[in-house]
Amino acid sequence: MRPRKGSKAICSRCHQPARGYDQLVERRFEFIPFWGFLVFLLYSMRRVDCRRCQAVVVEEVPWADGKRTLTKAYMLFLARWARRLSWKETAEAFRTSRDKVFDAVEHVVTWGLEHRVLGQIDAIGVDEIQYAKGHKYLTLVYQIDLGVTRLLWVGKERTIESFQGFFTAMRKDVISKIVFVCSDMWEPYLKLIRKNCSEALHILDRFHIVANMNKALDNVRAEETSRMRREGRAPILRKSRWLLLRRSENLGADQHFRLRDLLRYNLKTVRAYLLKEAFQQLWEYNSPAWAGKFLDEWCHQTMRSRIEPMKKIARSLRNHRELILNYFRAQKLLSSGVVEGLNNKAKVTMRKSYGFRTYRVLELALYHSLGKLPEPDSTHDFF
Ligand SMILES: [Zn+2]
Repeated sequence: MRPRKGSKAICSRCHQPARGYDQLVERRFEFIPFWGFLVFLLYSMRRVDCRRCQAVVVEEVPWADGKRTLTKAYMLFLARWARRLSWKETAEAFRTSRDKVFDAVEHVVTWGLEHRVLGQIDAIGVDEIQYAKGHKYLTLVYQIDLGVTRLLWVGKERTIESFQGFFTAMRKDVISKIVFVCSDMWEPYLKLIRKNCSEALHILDRFHIVANMNKALDNVRAEETSRMRREGRAPILRKSRWLLLRRSENLGADQHFRLRDLLRYNLKTVRAYLLKEAFQQLWEYNSPAWAGKFLDEWCHQTMRSRIEPMKKIARSLRNHRELILNYFRAQKLLSSGVVEGLNNKAKVTMRKSYGFRTYRVLELALYHSLGKLPEPDSTHDFF
């Protein structure tokens, strides 16, 4: 390629035409491969002596940005594929390196974050996912409005500082208009939400409550199983784990039969199971008042059960009673199932970018697949 005759080069700093200075040696820019053939654009970059910037600067070209050797069209092309395939597969399919796929995604995501429109955000959900062994977590904030669900923000770690980062990164007027916040019972989250969105209705995440209860039940079962083994009793709880943790309507016919058989025994595990199942009724209520009554009754009963892990749940539910009832005050409009669904997608994304599991890669991959970011315009559209 050659510059148009007599055309003035554009300064890459101030984006204005400027006086020519000299020409650099020819550079190769990678373009989208055609039918398996690699395609390069060859061009000698010009330098300008810019009066505005008072410096000799390399010119700006429309097909590439400063340092990268990939053309913008190729980066957009690779980035689009990297959303469908794993990054490794993308690199293999187009005979390029994973570093170049990384560059491509970084370019597209950076552009997208700079150009995205936040608009009015009604509801957000906060959650965390583990991304590496040794308690390495990411904090994720999603927009969960009825019409729009997308990832808004990724934070390293699961700390007060990381979550505060979200409130700092977003504009104040966006934050102050948030009406609903969904999150689990982690105390630092609750505090920050109260501080930053004092007007918002905070809804405790239904999914997390159920998950905590399942964990408690599982502890009871594990403890009782080993106690029965020590006492030499018949191993009736063996292989009961999934029978107890799954919702009863999701069990097959013979699993139902086994469960019914198990429920005849007077075991702590069975009593904990029945408490857990009874609790599900809470979500059927429409009125906050009746839901509150049910919740109080359930906690009262559980506190007398002498099953410590379940009592612990009851105590925590009592402490967060108002937040739980907010779920009914919001008329169940926002189901935390949305957050759960997004989190599952996030986990799939993490698996796809597996192979270079650094924080930066994950951050980019998550924004790329869940952020619904705008894409840079392309001079060449092929699909
Ligand atoms: Zn300039």
